[in-house]
Amino acid sequence: MADVFADLVGQPEAVDLLRRAAAAAETIRAAAVEGAAAGDVAGAEAAAADNIAAADTAAAAGSAMTHAWIFTGPPGSGRSVAARAFAAALQCHRGTGCGECAGCHTTLAGTHADVRFVVPEGLSIGVGEMRALVLRAASTPSGGRWQVLVIEDADRLTEAAGNALLKAIEEPPPRTVFLLCTPSTHPDDISVTIRSRCRVVALRQPPAEAVATVLRDRDGITPDVAAWAAAAAQGHVGRARRLARDPEARKRREAVLALPRRLSGVGACFDAASTLIEAAEAEAAAAVAEADASERAALETALGAGGTGRGAAGAIRGAAGQLKDLERRQKSRATRAQRDALDRALVDLAGFYRDVLTVSLRAPVEPVHTDVAGLASSAAGKWTPEGTLRRLEAVLGCRTAIETNVKPRIAVEAMMLALWRG
Ligand SMILES: [Zn+2]
Repeated sequence: MADVFADLVGQPEAVDLLRRAAAAAETIRAAAVEGAAAGDVAGAEAAAADNIAAADTAAAAGSAMTHAWIFTGPPGSGRSVAARAFAAALQCHRGTGCGECAGCHTTLAGTHADVRFVVPEGLSIGVGEMRALVLRAASTPSGGRWQVLVIEDADRLTEAAGNALLKAIEEPPPRTVFLLCTPSTHPDDISVTIRSRCRVVALRQPPAEAVATVLRDRDGITPDVAAWAAAAAQGHVGRARRLARDPEARKRREAVLALPRRLSGVGACFDAASTLIEAAEAEAAAAVAEADASERAALETALGAGGTGRGAAGAIRGAAGQLKDLERRQKSRATRAQRDALDRALVDLAGFYRDVLTVSLRAPVEPVHTDVAGLASSAAGKWTPEGTLRRLEAVLGCRTAIETNVKPRIAVEAMMLALWRG
């Protein structure tokens, strides 16, 4: 198996930084262990000298390691991949993430006793959940190394949950490491106070070539499909992988890229908006259906559905509450999945108008959608560069509007009308 950082595509600077931090962490840990051992040798001057030496080494190495980190970067750049790899490097028995030892393996598999991953499935992480996590993260690491708490999508923390986390980061237990993932360090994504306590690892959008290489070498995808998918996914590794492998994902993308040609009048714009919204809903429904059904079945089994006898009535009352709670969480997850699917479609659409603009301006850059380059060229013959730019801005404006909670259908309809008018 490859090194734990192998899946972090096109991020050599970040990998270097994290490797040095993991090495420094190991120095600190070894010094602490040695310090404790030396403490047993009562009154020995040599031991005292060793202690100081150990402390000095730790202080010097400490500049590379710290207890709280924020991983930022555009969607698909590998924020959670980086956090997971760093967690493994901290638990590695042989070095800084060999990928082969039990520490690396169990961390990457999500089964390490001292590493917890928080993956919010709804729109936000609540305070109750955060308090429980912080409490567990404060316990002594059972493997003798570090307690690691990885919070994916830390931008979805509620304010109260953020405060609970802040308290823990401000007064960190000696062996606890917090790894937070957010799109950016903008105050909308992470509070300024949490940000000020963390070291930031900024990931970039990986170049298409690096993404294509991974698809080819690790996933065994043919070179031409890998190159096409990497370009079409615009630096989003997971999206590129899906496009290369999943015919449904390819079909959905083609349907989105066919939309600009369909905008021939007001009615057609509303139709196109419906098509886009409904496709996102269908994609999201398919993505969450399986999880929803198995969660419900698991809960019903746990509650002993259909039970009779003493206490059954009380159990049913309690069960109704739990089922309601599950349904609420599932609804929130479905909303999130719909927004994600719609956003992916808008990114594809923006890529098309960007291609039209680069043809108009004869910019020496590769197209995003190599397979519809002909359409982009013919559009560039019809529209002025200003008109194309206004269309591109309409797509980006639609994304922003949805982010700021404008109803998706309203935002998409407005966008389609703007795309038609030009
Ligand atoms: Zn290892």
